[in-house]
Amino acid sequence: MENCLFCKIANGSVPSNKVYEDDTFLVFHDIQPAAPTHVLIIPKKHIATMNDVGPEDYAMIGELHRVAQEAAKKLGVAETGYRLINNCGPDSGQAVYHIHYHLIGGAKLGALVQ
Ligand code: C5P
Repeated sequence: MENCLFCKIANGSVPSNKVYEDDTFLVFHDIQPAAPTHVLIIPKKHIATMNDVGPEDYAMIGELHRVAQEAAKKLGVAETGYRLINNCGPDSGQAVYHIHYHLIGGAKLGALVQ
């Protein structure tokens, strides 16, 4: 996708602070961390939102959980705990329309809705 920031991060034309990369996924540090540990897990394939995940993507999205587990271990939060969050659409506050999962931890996290 030509004008998608996360596609550009995925193809390396926009730099990121990478935690993990393979042919399908990229994990990088969020530029505005909301917690001591805050990375974004993205598939390199452009999918705008959770609503756009199709049957052809289900296996890949399942595999993303393996990547999240490995990132959590590498970042030292696997045992202390973390959240994996996907924002979908306007009410969620989704700002970048390339599907991504926030992996957040490193501190006691507050309630989701206050
Ligand atoms: O879920 P949402 O779309 O709101 O999250 C987008 C995230 O992407 C934000 O946490 C923002 O800090 C992050 N971001 C980033 N690098 C950029 C632009 C946005 O890490 N260049």
